[in-house]
Amino acid sequence: MRFARRIEQLPPYLFVEISRKIAQKRAEGVDVVTFAIGDPDMPTPSHILDRLHRASQDPPNHRYPESDGLPELRRAVARWYDSRFGVSLDPDTEVLPLIGAKEGIGHAALCYIDPGDIALVPDPGYPVYSVGTMFAGGECHWMPLLEENDWLPDLDAIPADVADKAKAIWINYPNNPTGAVAEEAFFEKVVEFSKRHEVPVLHDAPYTEVAFDGYRPSSFLEVPGAKDVAIEFHSLSKSYNMTGWRIGMAVGNAEMINALMRVKSNLDSGIPQAIQYAAIEALDGPQDCIDEHNAVYQSRRDRVVAALRELGLEVVVPRASLYVWAKLPPGWKSGAFCAMLIEEQAIVVTPGAGYGRYGEGYIRLSLTLPDAQLEKGIQRLSSWRIPEPPAGEA
Ligand SMILES: *Cc1c(COP(=O)(O)O)cnc(C)c1O
Repeated sequence: MRFARRIEQLPPYLFVEISRKIAQKRAEGVDVVTFAIGDPDMPTPSHILDRLHRASQDPPNHRYPESDGLPELRRAVARWYDSRFGVSLDPDTEVLPLIGAKEGIGHAALCYIDPGDIALVPDPGYPVYSVGTMFAGGECHWMPLLEENDWLPDLDAIPADVADKAKAIWINYPNNPTGAVAEEAFFEKVVEFSKRHEVPVLHDAPYTEVAFDGYRPSSFLEVPGAKDVAIEFHSLSKSYNMTGWRIGMAVGNAEMINALMRVKSNLDSGIPQAIQYAAIEALDGPQDCIDEHNAVYQSRRDRVVAALRELGLEVVVPRASLYVWAKLPPGWKSGAFCAMLIEEQAIVVTPGAGYGRYGEGYIRLSLTLPDAQLEKGIQRLSSWRIPEPPAGEA
C-alpha cells in the first residue's frame, strides 16, 4: 500500500520504540527498571477521582461535549491562572480546553504553517513541535539548546531573513528534556523578538507545577505584551497526575485561541464532560497534592543526581520538570550508551539524540518510577563502571 509522504517521512515515535524494547526484554524474563517515560507513577488524587466518578453517573455527561469545553471549566482555568500566576484571562475568548496539551500542540501547527513555511523549533525538544510542523507541510529551523546558554535558544543567532519568514516560534520552559528553566528576562526577549519579526509564540508549559527547592516557575503570559503575541499550552497531566485522562488547555491571545478552536471543532468533538468536571475539581480544589508530589520527585532527583555523578556523568541539578539530563563521557553516542545500559544493567533511559541532534551526547532520566524501582536502578548503577566507548564511535 502507498501512503502519503508525511507518513513516510515520520520518524519512529521515540517512546513507542522504547516501550517495544521494554516489552521485549520483559517477555524474555528480564527485570527491567525504566527511567524512560515521563508519566507520573503516583495516582490521580482521590478528590479528583471522586468528582469524575460522580460526573460519570450524570446522563447529560454521556453526550457529545461542546468543542470549546464547558464554560465552568474555562472559568476554572481562568481562576487558576489568576491565582497561580496573576494572569487574567477572559474565559470565553482566551481559554480553550484541550484533549491534553499534545493534541493542541499538534493541531496548532495547522493554524500557522502553510506548505513551505518555516517554524522555529528547539533542538533538543519535545517531538510534537517538529512533527506538527511537518504534517502541515512546513519546515523546521532548529534553535539549538546548548549548555553554555543554559539551554535557552540564542534568538540573536537566528538569521534575520529566517526570523522574518518564520510563521511560529516554539518554546518550552520548564524544559523537556533538559530540565532547564527560563527567567522572565528571557521571556521578555522572546516577546520582543516576536513583535519585531511578527512571529506568533507558542509556549508549552506543562511543568510549571513540578518544581523543587521552593522554586516557582512563571507563565510566559506574566510578561508584559505576551498576550499580544502568544498562547501557552498547559496541562493537568503532570500537575495532577492525570496523564491518562487526557486534559489540558491553551490560553492567551484571543485570535490565536479562536484559530485553534476552529481547527479543533473540525477534527474532534471535545473532551468527555466527566473528565472536564474532574479538571474543574483539580484546579479549584485543594492544591496540597502538588507540594506532596514535588517532595517525592525532589528526593528521587537527589538520589538520581548523586548516582549519576558517582558514575562520572556531568549533571546540572534540575530546578523543575520530571527529568534529569546527564552528559555522557566523551566518545559515547546516546543510542549506543542506552543500548548498552539495557543489555548490561537492564536499565532503560532515553537517548538524547531522540530529541534532536543537539541532544546527542546526553541521556534523559525520568523521575516517574516508584521509589522501590528507583532504588533498584540506583543499586545496579552503584556496582557498575561505564566501559570505554566503542572504537570508532566518537
Ligand atoms: C508531557 C508533555 C506534554 C503533553 O501533555 P499532555 O497534556 O498529557 O498531552 C506536552 N509537552 C511536553 C513538553 C511534555 O513533556
